[in-house]
Amino acid sequence: MKKVIIVRYCEIHLKGKNRSYFQNLLIKNIKRSLKNIKYNLNILNARYLIEDFDDSDYKTITQKLEKICGIHSYSPAFWVKSNIEDIKNCCLEIIKNKSGEFKVETNRADKTFPLNSMELSREIGGEILASNPKLTVNVINPETTIKIDIREGGQTLIFTDTVKCLSGMPSGSAGRGMLMISGGIDSPVAGFMLAKRGMKLDAVHFFSYPYTSELAKEKVINLATQVAEYSGGINLYMVKFTKIQEEIHEKCPEELMITMMRRFMMRIAERLAKKSGGQAIITGESLGQVASQTIESITSSNSVVTLPVLRPLIAMDKLEIIEVSQKIGTYETSILPYEDCCTVFLPKYPAIKPKMEVILKAESKLDVEKLIEDALNETEILSI
Ligand code: ATP
Ligand code: MG
Repeated sequence: MKKVIIVRYCEIHLKGKNRSYFQNLLIKNIKRSLKNIKYNLNILNARYLIEDFDDSDYKTITQKLEKICGIHSYSPAFWVKSNIEDIKNCCLEIIKNKSGEFKVETNRADKTFPLNSMELSREIGGEILASNPKLTVNVINPETTIKIDIREGGQTLIFTDTVKCLSGMPSGSAGRGMLMISGGIDSPVAGFMLAKRGMKLDAVHFFSYPYTSELAKEKVINLATQVAEYSGGINLYMVKFTKIQEEIHEKCPEELMITMMRRFMMRIAERLAKKSGGQAIITGESLGQVASQTIESITSSNSVVTLPVLRPLIAMDKLEIIEVSQKIGTYETSILPYEDCCTVFLPKYPAIKPKMEVILKAESKLDVEKLIEDALNETEILSI
C-alpha cells in the first residue's frame, strides 16, 4: 500500500491534437513547481500520480499544486495491488476512525478483475460495516465516499477526498502579456486572472522616486512575486516615472494629470511588451471605479497603443475583486499603506470625461518621444 496524490487536469480544453501540447506543458509546469522536492511523476491516462514523496513534503506539494493553472483537482490516495484482500485492507484502514454514513463506489477499468463494480462495492461495504459499528450505509448522500478505481496493469487507486484547484489553462498555453502592476488591490488580481487562462506574464511598474519610497517599490516586488507563483515567473520592469510626471505637472492642465500619465504608461508598457515578445497589455481597470476608469478615460489611454489591452476586471465590483485577492493571497500586501506614483501630483478635480482635442493639445507641449526614450533607458529589470 503506497501513498500517492492523484492530479486531474481540466479535460475540457484538451481536444484532438492540442491534447498532448497541453499535457506536456502542464507536466513541465508541475515539474518546475516541484523542482526542489523528491517525488516521481507517473502518467496515467487523463491524470497524473505523484508518488514516492516523503510524508513531510505532502503539504508543500499540495500547496504548490493548488497554484498551478490547469489543474482541476487532486486527491490523496493509496495505490494497492488489484486483489480483493489488499483492496479490503486498505479501505478498512482509511475508514477505521470515521463515523456516520458512507458508501463505496467502484470504477473498473481492468475488466479482468474477478468482481464487477457493483459486486466489489457490495463486498467491501459489507466488510466495512462489520468492522466499524459507528458506520451506516447511505448510497444517496453519504458523508464519506470510498472510491475504488481498478486500473489496468494490476494496480488500484483508493481515496475519499477530492480537493478542487484553480482549473484554467496551463501557463504558457495562451501567449504572453505585459501586466501593468501598481501596489493596489486590482492589478495583481488582473494578472492572476490571465495567468489562470494560460497567459505568461511580464510586468511593468512605474514609480516616482523620491516622491514614492523604497518600501512602495518593495511592496510591488512582493506582489509580483505572489502573482508569479501562478504564472511561473515574471520579468518585472521598474520604470522611473518622476521626470514624466514633473513635466506633465509643469506644462499641462492640472485636471489632465492622470489622463496624461496613463497615456505615457500605456505607451511605455507597449514598447516593453513588444521588446519582450508580449502580445497584450493587461490592466486592473474596472469601469467607473475612479475618474481614470470612465469609458472616456479608457478611450484616451487605449488610443495610444495598438496591442490589445486586456482588462479582466472591467465588469467586476470592488468587493468581488477583493474576494479574489484574498483567495490568491495578495490582499494583505495590497492594503499596506505605501504611496503609488498616481497619488503624487493628484489633481483635486481630475477630468472625468477628458476630451480628445484637449488632451492632444496639452500633449503637444511635451516631447513625448524623448520622455519615453529616457524612461526606457533608465528601466531596471528584475527576474522573479
Ligand atoms: P490598482 O488597485 O491595480 O492600483 P486602482 O483601482 O488603484 O488599481 P488606478 O490607480 O486607476 O486604479 O490604476 C488603474 C490601472 O492602471 C491599475 O490596475 C494598473 O493596471 C495600472 N497602474 C496604475 N498605477 C500603476 C503603476 N504605478 N505602475 C503600473 N501600472 C499602474
Ligand atoms: Mg492604484
